[in-house]
Amino acid sequence: MTVMLDEIVSFIREVHGVSDGVVPLHAPTFSGREREYLLDCIDSTFVSSVGRYVDRFEKMVAEYTGANYAVATVNGTAAFHIALLLAGVQPQDEVITQAVSFVATANAISYCGAEPVFLDSDQDTLGLAPEALAAFLDQNAEQRTDGQTYNTLTGKRIAACVPMHVFGHPVRIEAIKSICKQYHIPLVEDAAESLGSFYHGQHTGTFGNLGILSFNGNKIITTGGGGMILTSNNDLARRAKHLTTTAKVDHPWEYEHDRIGYNYRMPNINAALGCAQIEQLKEKLSRKRTLAERYKLFFQEKGIPFVAEPAGCRSNYWLNAIVLENRKQRDRFLKATNDNGVITRPLWKLLPELPMYRHCWSDSLENAQWLQERIANLPSSVV
Ligand SMILES: *Cc1c(COP(=O)(O)O)cnc(C)c1O
Repeated sequence: MTVMLDEIVSFIREVHGVSDGVVPLHAPTFSGREREYLLDCIDSTFVSSVGRYVDRFEKMVAEYTGANYAVATVNGTAAFHIALLLAGVQPQDEVITQAVSFVATANAISYCGAEPVFLDSDQDTLGLAPEALAAFLDQNAEQRTDGQTYNTLTGKRIAACVPMHVFGHPVRIEAIKSICKQYHIPLVEDAAESLGSFYHGQHTGTFGNLGILSFNGNKIITTGGGGMILTSNNDLARRAKHLTTTAKVDHPWEYEHDRIGYNYRMPNINAALGCAQIEQLKEKLSRKRTLAERYKLFFQEKGIPFVAEPAGCRSNYWLNAIVLENRKQRDRFLKATNDNGVITRPLWKLLPELPMYRHCWSDSLENAQWLQERIANLPSSVV
């Protein structure tokens, strides 16, 4: 194993062209018109909440994803907060999500005053298992005369279901969507990691009532910080824009605001970066696919399973991952790589294991736990 670990470290260094020094988990790359667009913002003084790059970036994202509307925000978490509010999530509600996710998923649910319910993942997609969702609703949900679905264990309304496409690999979104439809539960997709990922030819984040993307520095393209709300509903899009821009009512000079809004609009300077980045998305996706192919071949030869895109799906391969034999092997791998300047990471701690979510309801989380003990992420920058 030690010999193999040395070999793994050298292979990763070779693939990333870093002979010494740190190989990061995911570093941004800027090889397009970033400088030009940023200078244009500075020269024009439009660096903040008004400017043509925001509109342009929104159009480009809408066009690429096939969503009718895209509304840019300061980050993915803010996008998600607004998407949940627009889906109708209110204080005291419950929102179904997966235990395998980044903390922001559960945090945005909490910002609405609602509580997450954590369900299990599929072992292959890593995301919400339709069987777990169906089982939970079958056992615990009742539809009342108001047309809403309630949790019989708690008496609380189930206001939304939030699957997340882990590392860019699409979840079984069609199955999840049809279960949500059956129970009249709004579907909001956390597609923060999956720009460029498609399920049966349709872009992730466009299946639900709303979806969100993130353009944080570690995502496939970055705006420094940024996010996007996707929807195909004109009214939701209009309200998303309104809520993210302090709920200001259009007027030539009056400060008119018609409700408590949020200052969540993406600044022009961030959108400028986004425009330059999305122009390179195709190239980045193709390079990431090549990297994933190389990892896959290498690790398969070593008898270590590589997490590949689910059948019928196209993944952006945002973060590459392998499945080690057990927790001990995983920890040996993490130690050997990180000690040698090759940054690797385990799966996130399961959300209901974090102190602020420990009291929340979860199912057996059998697969989630299995994955938690075995998954390791590999350096995945565009090379
Ligand atoms: C990155 C990420 C977010 C949050 O995006 P930010 O832009 O960092 O706020 C939300 N959910 C998931 C799953 C993410 O990976």
